[in-house]
Amino acid sequence: METTPAVRFLGCGDAFGNGGRYNTCFWVRRDPAPPVLIDCGASSLIAMKRFGVDPDAIATVFLTHLHGDHFGGLVFLLREATLFRHRRRALTIAGPVGTEDRLRVALEAFFPGGWAVPRDFDLRFVALQPGITIDVDGVRATPFPAKHGSGAPSLSLRLDVDGHVIAYTGDTGWLDSLIEVGRDADLFICEAYTPDQAFPHHLGLSTIREKLPAIQPKRIILTHLGAEMLRQRDTIDLPVAEDGLTVAF
Ligand SMILES: [Zn+2]
Ligand SMILES: [Zn+2]
Repeated sequence: METTPAVRFLGCGDAFGNGGRYNTCFWVRRDPAPPVLIDCGASSLIAMKRFGVDPDAIATVFLTHLHGDHFGGLVFLLREATLFRHRRRALTIAGPVGTEDRLRVALEAFFPGGWAVPRDFDLRFVALQPGITIDVDGVRATPFPAKHGSGAPSLSLRLDVDGHVIAYTGDTGWLDSLIEVGRDADLFICEAYTPDQAFPHHLGLSTIREKLPAIQPKRIILTHLGAEMLRQRDTIDLPVAEDGLTVAF
């Protein structure tokens, strides 16, 4: 019998497809509750089809921030759900303040007139705000501020899924609050964009190594590796996500 929950990395790449990896998208299996997504980057619908994940089964999507490689896949998911799949299951999108407007603009840019097409399912938006813990479809979500410009507040997320803590930095420069995000987490998904702290709004592996003793997650997996990190992949001494990797608890 399978344990529950489990996290499957449908996409662990950066914005630019380095390493041939899909944009960020983590699928969280719950049982008997329907599965949840964490981020839905532009390539996510392709990744779902590659890995045999049913988009209609997903009830809830949590978004860390409104960059295309973290939320752009919703454009295609919604478009297909509305026009071709005739989705019935309600969908909750929980993201930063401004998510609904940005998604509408993105969908209209890609498929003009698409937002107004009648849907056979309820689409609900929930605003995630730093410091305010909120229950979304049975997942207890605690958002933290992230240091990452995206035209809206960017977030790190600490999610309690059926008693298991899944923490995700999102894209962010270092903030001391990341210690609280990942502390004792059953799974701490940590972006590691560069070997050193090369950018103020992304995490470097050197910073993660320095801070990890303070965070002490039960398990860490690095994600969102940039080109230089991938070149050095064989020398990285922490676990690294791969597209398709499943982590069970
Ligand atoms: Zn990103
Ligand atoms: Zn970003």
